[in-house]
Amino acid sequence: MKDTFKHRGMRNHLAQILIDKGIADKKVLDAVREIPRHLFMDSSFEGHAYQNKAFPIAANQTISHPYTVAFQTELLQLEEGHKVLEIGTGSGYQTAILLNLKVKVYSIERQLELFKKTNIFFKKMGYRPKKLIFGDGYKGLPEQAPFDRIIVTAGAPEVPKALLSQLKVGGRLVIPIGFEEQIMTLFVRTANMEFSKTEYGSFRFVPLLENKN
Ligand code: SAH
Repeated sequence: MKDTFKHRGMRNHLAQILIDKGIADKKVLDAVREIPRHLFMDSSFEGHAYQNKAFPIAANQTISHPYTVAFQTELLQLEEGHKVLEIGTGSGYQTAILLNLKVKVYSIERQLELFKKTNIFFKKMGYRPKKLIFGDGYKGLPEQAPFDRIIVTAGAPEVPKALLSQLKVGGRLVIPIGFEEQIMTLFVRTANMEFSKTEYGSFRFVPLLENKN
């Protein structure tokens, strides 16, 4: 598959849909306009890649809705050079959006098949995260902590304590919390032992699974 003018046109249209739904961060919208989402999914879904839909990737997982990706990325309030931890690499689409915003990304995936597939795909595309890690994101990545930002792209029953403890003071953690449906939740580490918590709308994610490696 290739990236063509037609695909670019469809991405511009998608960006407009996201604007209409309330996404305002110009850098996030530019990233959506630039990253060829159709290349992150099976070619049979290509025609639908630029609708605001989730699609199956490998290992029974899904690539998140573009709106969800944009919403989470906007909430992170990224600055160039930030050190970012992502839990749930999946197809790598969210990872690529983060990289487009010029941050350093460490991304963890617990499905071996997806981990391998996305590794190969990133090499082919020339995308350069700091590291893709095969493992359990519930535990975070203590050896690289602390992080400026942490993003979780699977639904967690509650916020993993390890992730809160790996945030810098002033750092932001964006995580969908809940079982059937999840509430998008932002934690800000306001002081060493203090966190603020803000809840946003409801979303649907595949579950964040613990200790299943
Ligand atoms: N951002 C991805 C979303 C994929 S769905 C995309 O847009 O493609 C969520 C991903 O989280 C799945 O790939 C799933 O395997 C992964 N996941 C679930 N529990 C995990 C855990 N404990 N650690 C790391 N990854 C996990």
